[in-house]
Amino acid sequence: MLQTDLSVKDPAGQIHFKLENFQPTGSFKIRGATNKILRLREADPQTGIIAVSTGNHGKAVAYAASMTGFQALICLSESADQGKVQAIRRIGGEIEQFGSSYDEAAKHAARLAEERSLTMIHPFDDLEIIEGQGTIGLELLEDLPQIGQAVVPLSGGGLISGIGSVLKWADPSIKVIGVSMEAGAVMQASLRAGRPVELPEEKTLADALVGGLGEENQFTFHLCQKVVDRTLLVSESEIEEAIWYMADRHHLIVEGGGAVGIAAWRSGKLPLVDRPTAIVVSGGNIDNSVFAGIVQRKFGKGEGTPGS
Ligand SMILES: *Cc1c(COP(=O)(O)O)cnc(C)c1O
Repeated sequence: MLQTDLSVKDPAGQIHFKLENFQPTGSFKIRGATNKILRLREADPQTGIIAVSTGNHGKAVAYAASMTGFQALICLSESADQGKVQAIRRIGGEIEQFGSSYDEAAKHAARLAEERSLTMIHPFDDLEIIEGQGTIGLELLEDLPQIGQAVVPLSGGGLISGIGSVLKWADPSIKVIGVSMEAGAVMQASLRAGRPVELPEEKTLADALVGGLGEENQFTFHLCQKVVDRTLLVSESEIEEAIWYMADRHHLIVEGGGAVGIAAWRSGKLPLVDRPTAIVVSGGNIDNSVFAGIVQRKFGKGEGTPGS
């Protein structure tokens, strides 16, 4: 197994964690962003790059751009997590904050891209982004050949489209489960409705999963219809418990969006299968004050895990 994989025993079966919190920039988004920007370097090396992001995609694009000599402009909403904004600045990305929601920031970014002829790097609805995230699926097949199901945090659906396409191609019996927070699970609502729908944005510990599918979703909605077997929702207190479990038991700092798969498993909502389950832990970029608050509440309550 890779060093970035951790396995634990559950009475009902074997669980493996795919730890993307160990990636440079702290989330899996570096995979898609790097693939996209390397292709761009071949196709259009003179262009400038623009991206809109709740944080992790922005960090990944700024990082991949700085590695390949592109200028990157990252647009975020005014409500974006401050830790992530500062991290993007440190990596060297130029920042523009606009509007009170992800979708408002996205519209602003589209205008800027038009005005300044910049190439927009979409966070999920792009085949080269999806292909990059799909490398997780290839690694799962290599490291865990008996894999029976993959549990994947789900927002716009680039991550699960990539992983799911690879796993279903290898073995259609492998189950692909998407997990979102109860507060604003846009893809789940869209799959139920049979078309992309919009939901109001709500405050959630899983800030990396906030945002809509885009007005003209081209790829991820249809790919999710094809490759996702089931979606599960987790509550804020289940996400908080999962973050605490990872810190207390495994000494790992995981962000809310990265912990939803753990939350689905720990809350008993995830049915296990007779082959190993891989839970994708998609990122670790949690705001310090949010993390400190969780530790204080949980530790104060004496909820330490025996033997940890
Ligand atoms: C972006 C992100 C996701 C969701 O990925 P999508 O491709 O939008 O479904 C999950 N977890 C983390 C940590 C992320 O940054």
